[in-house]
Amino acid sequence: MQPSNEPSFRDSVDIMFNRAVALMDLPPGLEEKIRVCNATYTVRFGVRLRGKIQTFTGYRSVHSEHMEPVKGGIRYSLGVNQNEVEALAALMTYKCALVEAPFGGSKGGLCIDPRDYDDHELELITRRFAYELIKRDMINPAQNVPAPDMGTGEREMAWIADQYKRMNTTDINGVACVTGKPTHAGGIQGRTEATGRGVQYALHAFFRDGMGLDKAGLKGPLRDKRVIVQGLGNVGYHAAKFLSEEDGCRITAIIERDGALHDEGGLDVEAVYQWIAKHGTITGYPDATLEADGARLLENDCDVLIPAALEGVINLGNAERIKAPLVIEAANGPVTAGADEILRDKGTVIVPDMYANAGGVTVSYFEWVKNLSHIRFGRMQRRQEEARHQLIVDELERLSADSGIGWQLSPNFKEKYLRGAGELELVRSGLDDTMSTAYESMAQVWHGREDVRDLRTAAYLVSIDKVAASYRAKGL
Ligand code: NAD
Repeated sequence: MQPSNEPSFRDSVDIMFNRAVALMDLPPGLEEKIRVCNATYTVRFGVRLRGKIQTFTGYRSVHSEHMEPVKGGIRYSLGVNQNEVEALAALMTYKCALVEAPFGGSKGGLCIDPRDYDDHELELITRRFAYELIKRDMINPAQNVPAPDMGTGEREMAWIADQYKRMNTTDINGVACVTGKPTHAGGIQGRTEATGRGVQYALHAFFRDGMGLDKAGLKGPLRDKRVIVQGLGNVGYHAAKFLSEEDGCRITAIIERDGALHDEGGLDVEAVYQWIAKHGTITGYPDATLEADGARLLENDCDVLIPAALEGVINLGNAERIKAPLVIEAANGPVTAGADEILRDKGTVIVPDMYANAGGVTVSYFEWVKNLSHIRFGRMQRRQEEARHQLIVDELERLSADSGIGWQLSPNFKEKYLRGAGELELVRSGLDDTMSTAYESMAQVWHGREDVRDLRTAAYLVSIDKVAASYRAKGL
């Protein structure tokens, strides 16, 4: 539980923003223009369910329209409120600027616990919420493009896209009104895994940064590092799975809403995920120790702590006891402004949310471009690329045979080299490039300026600079 003497999520974001802006030389007034949320729309609507009308409250907040469309997920949770949605919308502005996704920032939310409704009821509620937003152009491929967030996924995005198409039958770009759709409904390969994949690429970038590792008191490589993950949902599951299966990390604890599983030898992420999918709880999972007070495991000894559930989980109440030298914010706002101060003083390095979880919006950008261009990435080039590679392989083999050297290209090399990149390979390559380029831009400021002590301030400086440049170009 977050202590009550902490600033709200929205205030926390502003405190961090102000800390960065104090180090910048922005024209008078521009700082406030960037910081404030442009508009927040509240909608209350009724849906007839189980024989009576139930009223729901939803929000769509637009933080900055320096670029359009604005972009940001739609969250389904009982904790959704105006303050939270505005904080998340602001983070979207800074995130998009940092990773050079050409969008303004927005966010939406519906105040429900999706587990209280069956599939058909959720479809009715989602379509009605979407209807309210679409008719006000708050879902529109040119103006405002939502995506999944906590409590929503591919299925909800497909319903929203279909609702938009029903209301805009002649809009040829209609499917681009939302991202994170299933691939059979206009989605892109690699979107579901994208945020977790981005967390993995962010850690790769961090572990390539010798000065960053020194500041955290860590040594490479990433292999065998002890990792604690909070939240085994979309983001946490993919991050934990890739880090354990591909990078050889040990996932020593998984913290969920009903407790935590612990095994210093490393948990089998896929097995835990399947257990939760089948039983709806981590309780009873046979191959690990169960800790009833899950949040306490945030304080366990480990190398990397990945909060991937919700905001405010590292706060004034527990920050002092956090032992991880490296915290990577897969969730939005998991560290409050007060906790951030305490952790920085202790020397903990925090990879900030606006960078760490930007993989989702990056691949959403690719999906939006794919929808607008009406063609799958790689469709025109793949066979041609394969044919050119085949030419080189044939020529090398001919030269080797003719000269009598007798070199053989290994079958493994040939198989990899001859295969042209499909959509998934291209998406992953674009995401990797985005995450490393953005990391370098932050690290340059972090290591290059004496007045910048942490990666979060560096991230804000890079992104605010870009938003400011965009406003200046408009003559503001
Ligand atoms: P999700 O709904 O798929 O998963 C959330 C997980 O956290 C669930 O497994 C849930 O049981 C668990 N959880 C909830 N409350 C908890 C608690 N108190 N303690 C421990 N676990 C708890 O959501 P998601 O899409 O994975 O989003 C998680 C975070 O990542 C959010 O902060 C979201 O804003 C952020 N994020 C998501 C995306 C995306 O593409 N989905 C992109 C960027 C950022």
